[in-house]
Order: sequence, then C-alpha cells, then structure tokens
Amino acid sequence: MTSGLTTRFAPSPTGPLHLGHAFSALLAHDRATRQGGTFLLRIEDIDQSRAKPQWRDQIDTDLAWLGLDWPRPVLCQSTRLPAYTAVLKHLWKVGLIFECRCNRRDILDAASAPQEGVAPVIGPDGVVYPGTCRHRDSQQGTRPFPVDAALRLRMDRALQIAAPDGDLWFEETGTGPAGETGRVRIDAATLPDRIGDVVLARRGMGTSYHLSVVLDDAHQGVTEVTRGQDLFDATAIHVVLQRVLGLPQPRYHHHRLIRDDTGRRLAKREDARAIARYRDEGATPQDIRAMVGLA
Ligand code: GLU
Repeated sequence: MTSGLTTRFAPSPTGPLHLGHAFSALLAHDRATRQGGTFLLRIEDIDQSRAKPQWRDQIDTDLAWLGLDWPRPVLCQSTRLPAYTAVLKHLWKVGLIFECRCNRRDILDAASAPQEGVAPVIGPDGVVYPGTCRHRDSQQGTRPFPVDAALRLRMDRALQIAAPDGDLWFEETGTGPAGETGRVRIDAATLPDRIGDVVLARRGMGTSYHLSVVLDDAHQGVTEVTRGQDLFDATAIHVVLQRVLGLPQPRYHHHRLIRDDTGRRLAKREDARAIARYRDEGATPQDIRAMVGLA
C-alpha cells in the first residue's frame, strides 16, 4: 500500500558523503519505504563554486551501494534558479526583502557597536544582522528588482504575516537538541532578535539555502523533512517562509548527529569517515548500518 509520506535526502555535492550522511539517508529512506511512501534524492548545488561533478557522481554510487533507490530524474537546485528568482521578485515587490550591501566586517562592527565589549548575538546563520541596509527595500514597489545583490528578509514584517497572533509551531517526529518533540512552539516574538533578517539571496548566487530548501520541499511534495539536529534552529526560518509564501508545512524529523571519537560532528573535509573509504576497506552496507546504530 502506498502512503502519502515523502521524505528526502538533500546533500550538497561539495565533498564525500560520510557516516553522518549515511545515517540521514538511510533513516529518511527507511521511514518512507516502511510506510509505502517515497524517498527522494535532491542535489543542493546552489553554491556552484564548491559543487563538483565528482562528488555528484559519488553520491549516486554511495547511496546505491547502501541499497537505496529513488525516483529519477533527480532534482538539482542549480536548475531551479528561475523559480527562486520569481519568488524573490514577489517578495521584493511587497516589501518583505531588502538589498544588503554589507560585508562580514560591516556586520560584525555594527552588531558590536551598540554595546561595546558585549558579544553580538549568534543565530543559525552567524551574527544576527544589525539592520544597517533595511531602508533599501522596494519603496512600495517603486524601485526595480536589484540584480546580483544580496537580499535579506525583513523578519519583523514577515512575522506579521506568518504569525499575526504570535502562534508559530511545527510538528516534530524526531527530537531537537534539547529533546523537543511533538508540537514544537517557536517563540515568534523573539525571532527578530534571535535570528533576524536572514539572507534569502546571496550575491552572485541568486538564492540561499533557506529559500531553496523551502521552495523545493514544497515543489517536490516532501511531507517529512529528515535531517540532522544541527539544522533544528533553521526550522523556525523555514516555517516563517512557508507561512509567508502560503506553502504546505511538512513535518520535521531531526535526528542525532554522528560524531567522531572526540565527540565532534563529522565534517565533509574529514574523509576518514567517508562511505567510499569504508567500502574500499571491505565494509558491507550492513556494517555501515550497524556503525550508525540502525538495524
Ligand atoms: N544540503 C544540506 C546539507 O548538505 C541539507 C539541507 C536539509 O536537509 O535541509 O547539509
């Protein structure tokens, strides 16, 4: 019997997949297929300066070796730029985004300025934006859409649409870093200070992780987003965007992170835990499942 459950694994082809990716992909796959649902692969290659065909090919090889299967053709985010631009143009017109000309140093300086000696607030994307360029919006639709610019969300205005009564939440079927599960409430009133005006389009990229992930999960009919707990805090941003854009809200299944012997989260550059390396050394897919704690 088929169910409406659709999960996905959405790697960026910027390095070898390691045990943490194997866990995420296997979990998303198992959750979908055990309920007769669909498991999708999506390639998150918006950062064309870092994405490499070699890693793209290895993703297919590694996942197939692990025993996973998925519908083809696979969606690559680099083919979706027209869709991202269309949404950005809409957000520009209605005054929900603004052009940002700050560099990292400007942001750090401005964020530290009001209270010297006090560390700036760090959100899921780094230092919370101090609001320097907020006035550079469409001026009620009169300014043309800025080409090749960084664009940021006006979080305060977005929240007026996303949570006019302050009610913001998502359904968690896994667990957040502090054990959050079930109906997870987002403290909407503190989002402008905790997360702020996040980047929706990077200069020279035409989109950002937050925008493309939200649009593509909706475009592909994903009903459960399976991913690591390191992205738990970004979920508030995604929920705000879904509400602002009138998109269906998927459930979330955040999972524990696979760590190295010193307790650090695995990173792509450490290929010691690469799936390909284990395979070359004679491990079986069942060994990989055991290593990540999946039966
Ligand atoms: N592309 C992201 C990554 O490789 C995952 C995004 C997501 O699962 O929401 O870390």
